[in-house]
Amino acid sequence: MHDVVIVGAGPVGLLLACELGLAGCSVLALEREPGPGSPWRAAPLGMRGLFISSVEALDRRGMLEPVLATAGDPAAVAGPRRRAGGHFAGIMLDAANLDTGPQPFRLPSSAPEFVLTDLGTVEAVLSERAVKLGVEIRYGAEVSAIAQDDGGVVVSDGEHEYAARWVVGCDGGRSAVRTLAGFGFDGTEPTFTGYVMLATVADAERLGPGFNLTPQGMYITMPAPGHIGVMDFDGGAFDRSQELTRDHLQAVLRRVSGIDVTLTDVQFASSFTDRARQATTYRRGRVLLAGDAAHIMSPLGGQGLNTGLGDAVNLGWKLAATVRGRAPEGLLDTYDSERRPVGAWALDWTRAQVATMRPDPHARAIRAVVRDLLATRDGTNHVIRKITGGTTRYDLGDEHPLVGRSSPDFRLEDGTRLADLMQDGRGVVLDFSAGGCLRDSGWDGDLRYAAGPAVDDLGLGAVLVRPDGIVAWVGDRVPDQEGFDRAARRWFGDPRAW
Ligand SMILES: Cc1cc2nc3c(=O)[nH]c(=O)nc-3n(C[C@H](O)[C@H](O)[C@H](O)COP(=O)(O)OP(=O)(O)OC[C@H]3O[C@@H](n4cnc5c(N)ncnc54)[C@H](O)[C@@H]3O)c2cc1C
Repeated sequence: MHDVVIVGAGPVGLLLACELGLAGCSVLALEREPGPGSPWRAAPLGMRGLFISSVEALDRRGMLEPVLATAGDPAAVAGPRRRAGGHFAGIMLDAANLDTGPQPFRLPSSAPEFVLTDLGTVEAVLSERAVKLGVEIRYGAEVSAIAQDDGGVVVSDGEHEYAARWVVGCDGGRSAVRTLAGFGFDGTEPTFTGYVMLATVADAERLGPGFNLTPQGMYITMPAPGHIGVMDFDGGAFDRSQELTRDHLQAVLRRVSGIDVTLTDVQFASSFTDRARQATTYRRGRVLLAGDAAHIMSPLGGQGLNTGLGDAVNLGWKLAATVRGRAPEGLLDTYDSERRPVGAWALDWTRAQVATMRPDPHARAIRAVVRDLLATRDGTNHVIRKITGGTTRYDLGDEHPLVGRSSPDFRLEDGTRLADLMQDGRGVVLDFSAGGCLRDSGWDGDLRYAAGPAVDDLGLGAVLVRPDGIVAWVGDRVPDQEGFDRAARRWFGDPRAW
């Protein structure tokens, strides 16, 4: 029996596999595709933007460098401004309004705020790491049945049965795990059908550059020739099981753009909608959901992958501690209570954009208001911070503004960064006062201790950082041993009980 079976070896399943493997769990990932490296996951169709939370998660496990090594140049595809998500509902943000300094709660040495990459690259880096950590990835295994009882879960692909103590469905928007295990999945129905394509356009110069809102929807032309996106407000009526023909794509592009362009050839195309749904709980017994299996939304604003990767890093260490019998009471439940609100926000963020883009007089009126707000410096920076995830904060019941947020990447005077200290997946105590008293606390197996003055002194005495990089506790100049013990027990259990 495996500790955990992960269904779906997409980016979310693979990152979760890495987290569990790092913590010493035995993990089997079942993937229905016959092998890695589907052409649909490579650029241009597989192109994805990683925001702060995802970039930091990769950095903290030493996987950012390999992703960066193959990452595309955002300027080549998205235009010259390097910051991500440069629009809200197709209304471009003015680069001149962007604060160029680090975002709040980030230090100058922090990892980049945005990396443009593709699913194929992310999956290649993650699966290589997962395998190194002892994870078994079985391709050609499409899960079609699940049964669970108090002791474990058995999944089946019709040919083989696989037993595990826990199963996590990371099997995408049409998740079989979600359906088979009886999760509720509530939300809103689509208003548009979207298309992305790589095509040869005979008269491409007739199309406007960048984001173009029209009375029928929106079309996007990227600087890289032939990269086109179209959103057609057809009520999501297009039957997406149909083949995407050149004639259909040309008709949609003509209708939405109002320009009679000709597609002479279509190399790749895929469709999506703005259906927005979320699982009503992320856990039923021994079955959990993460990524698109837990939430689906339109790609507007690029939140889906980033939200899913955030699920994986939040769940990984909590599930690992549960498997090892070292989780404090209720730890695993905090996966749902922390991540479901983030997913709900992401759904609403995309809904707000759809509502603003709709081709009707009400939305036109809203657009005028939003345009005015986005023309201001505050408006631009508010939206950018929302998009890039810089404002996410879990409610951990502590008023200190850092608690519940992703930790700044503190650097000690010897050059060690917090991200360096997090490579083995343990929590970290940074003791800037070097008082040493936090060291003898009994959590040695789960916490890593580092002491010394910080290069960017934020006036803090010490911080306790969870394995997912979230600040769990902040101490004053004179370390408060009792407060630290309380926080450490809350997240890492009572060492006397082991
Ligand atoms: C056009 C477009 C652009 C996007 N751009 C962005 C962006 O810039 N930023 C962003 O954050 N998000 C973006 N997204 C969303 C993002 O791609 C998804 O949110 C992300 O891929 C979800 O990852 P996942 O691992 O949860 O699911 P998936 O990537 O769907 O992976 C699920 C895996 O499970 C496997 N599987 C499915 N069923 C089974 C089964 N029964 N048994 C075994 N295996 C199974 C699948 O083969 C697949 O490998 C975009 C989406 C689209 C359509």
